[in-house]
Amino acid sequence: MNIVVVGGGAAGFFGAVVCAEAYPHARLIVLEKSAKVLAKVRVSGGGRCNVTHACFDPKLLVQNYPRGAQALLGPFHRFQPRDTVEWFESHGVALKTQSDGCLFPQSNKSQTIIELFIGLAKKAGVDVRTNAMIASVERNGSSGFCLSLQSGERIICDRLLMTTGSDPQGYQWAQDLGHCIEPPVPSLFTFTVPDNRLKGLAGLVMKNAQVRLVGTSLCQTGPILVTHWGLSGPAILKLSAWGARVFHERGYQARIQINWAGFDLDIIQRDMRRFKTFYPKKTIAAHRLFDLPHRLWESLVRAAGINEEQRWADLKKTQMIQLANEVFEGVYNVTGRSTFQEEYVTCGGVRLNEVNFKTMESRVCPGLYFAGEILDIDGMTGGFNFQNAWTTAWVAAHAMGQAV
Ligand SMILES: Cc1cc2nc3c(=O)[nH]c(=O)nc-3n(C[C@H](O)[C@H](O)[C@H](O)COP(=O)(O)OP(=O)(O)OC[C@H]3O[C@@H](n4cnc5c(N)ncnc54)[C@H](O)[C@@H]3O)c2cc1C
Repeated sequence: MNIVVVGGGAAGFFGAVVCAEAYPHARLIVLEKSAKVLAKVRVSGGGRCNVTHACFDPKLLVQNYPRGAQALLGPFHRFQPRDTVEWFESHGVALKTQSDGCLFPQSNKSQTIIELFIGLAKKAGVDVRTNAMIASVERNGSSGFCLSLQSGERIICDRLLMTTGSDPQGYQWAQDLGHCIEPPVPSLFTFTVPDNRLKGLAGLVMKNAQVRLVGTSLCQTGPILVTHWGLSGPAILKLSAWGARVFHERGYQARIQINWAGFDLDIIQRDMRRFKTFYPKKTIAAHRLFDLPHRLWESLVRAAGINEEQRWADLKKTQMIQLANEVFEGVYNVTGRSTFQEEYVTCGGVRLNEVNFKTMESRVCPGLYFAGEILDIDGMTGGFNFQNAWTTAWVAAHAMGQAV
């Protein structure tokens, strides 16, 4: 029985190895179009490969997936980060957990993961072919497939696992075989914000900030980092992921509101009145509120039209309202996006209700399976995207192995 895996990335390799190890009677072929397999694994996590995340409750785990949360709940009960850790450790690669919950190979090198997969594939007899340019994918019988390579070779298989990530060709084949594709758009990006208030503040982090996308109910809390070109940090990345489609529709031109202190407006105004009473002779610019970094506070004071020498005693009511608004809900124009440390994932892909998540088999084309980023699933940074690849590939591997 032949199983072909199209795409030699994280999901493809993991699926092939798991299937070959558990079902030695299955003959597995991995077809990779480029000269090198596992290219994204190599560059992932800044060359260290953030394999998964230390979140072991499936209900909490799925909250890190802007798209795919509901679909992944069942699969995560079968193969979750704890199983990922066990799998890698039982295959000789120990992982370590950082204080932020991200897990990396102890070697700190993605090369360790690549060597593991390539070694295991070889040992299990998986036929890995690089530079394999597929010309067409067609049905062959009721649940088989015929793949024609550009070299003229034809490969017949009983089961086909598509793991082509966000490659347009993979989406096209899925469509040709009867699937709908949710339009692919980028997720996980930082914002370009050319604003005088942020000038000279690069490197500054506000730990408990809140950011809201104006005109929507989308709002995220957490650290915000000021960069040379705009804004980044966990709260911004979360907003970019949950708002990926909205940002795309708006051509990455959007208005965001930032609450730098993370407090309610009445608390901010109350503290300003207290300062006016207790520190009347201190200058406003020099005597900051809410532990806001000096440079940020001075910038917000300037933006509220308050003179550098002005004292708390002289703060007029209109100025107080203006300053409180700058702290609580300053509006900033986003004029573009850029990738986060070169990392991005694609939101969109094969529509989830067309796939049976108990097996990862297509509901519209029997014998066809999907795993990884080709699906309309994307996660936050922190190892969640690889976990999606491992879990969906593991489920597909077992279903294909049992079927043949
Ligand atoms: C720079 C960067 C860093 C990242 N770091 C992390 C991280 O640390 N942790 C994390 O969880 N996620 C990370 N991600 C996201 C993660 O890499 C992806 O979610 C994951 O690789 C998806 O796996 P996949 O197998 O579905 O797709 P891919 O890894 O993209 O693999 C798809 C494979 O299919 C091949 N292919 C495509 N089309 C064809 C075709 N027509 N014929 C044959 N082969 C084809 C491709 O060449 C590729 O090898 C990062 C992403 C980037 C870009």
